[in-house]
Amino acid sequence: MKIVLASNNAGKLAELQTLFAPLGMTLVRQSELNIPEAAEPFKTFVENALAKARHAAQLSGMPALADDAGLCVDAFGGQPGVDTAYYATRFGYPKGDDTNVTALLEQMQGVQGAEQRRAAMVSTLVALRSADDPEPLIAVGRVVVQITPERRGTNGFGFDPVMFLPEFGKTFAELPPEVKNANSHRGRAAQAMLALMRERWFEPPLTV
Ligand code: IMP
Repeated sequence: MKIVLASNNAGKLAELQTLFAPLGMTLVRQSELNIPEAAEPFKTFVENALAKARHAAQLSGMPALADDAGLCVDAFGGQPGVDTAYYATRFGYPKGDDTNVTALLEQMQGVQGAEQRRAAMVSTLVALRSADDPEPLIAVGRVVVQITPERRGTNGFGFDPVMFLPEFGKTFAELPPEVKNANSHRGRAAQAMLALMRERWFEPPLTV
């Protein structure tokens, strides 16, 4: 089955493609179908992911999968949340992964201690069979990390270089992709989504 991924992020495509391969699903980036990005005006991940999936399903006529992710920092009362991608712009930097990390490290300069530097990266996945699907599949995954005081490692993308996992003693950017996939917010959401798809979309026929 082909499914449109309502994202143009190459890092996400690579991660999700690996995660969904066991179901025989091929992910197609929406930009390959000339589908523009949807607006994300909502305050919650699930509302934004649903809006993105519906937009991609509507314009492609295909099933669609969307992911909305963000960093919820304890010391900032759970912010930046749904505005994570634009975090750097709050402080006069251009939008981008690297500027986001710079802004976060600057804003956390006075925050000392592992507990105080705790944050959750959250991923909400929404899948629709069609734009009018009344029963969206919704899966949430989160990973709790400590924000390091400086960048460590070169793998991954986004905040990976400052997302430290105490159980590995490393940041996501220092871990191989398969270890990140197995332990990340998106990996966990994808596992939950796989189970939902198996149950609802690929269920065996009823026996009489
Ligand atoms: P979005 O879901 O693409 O809007 O992602 C929101 C923000 O979270 C962006 O700034 C991403 O770079 C960041 N982000 C999403 N997934 C990851 C990840 O796996 N690691 C690190 N940062 C991420």
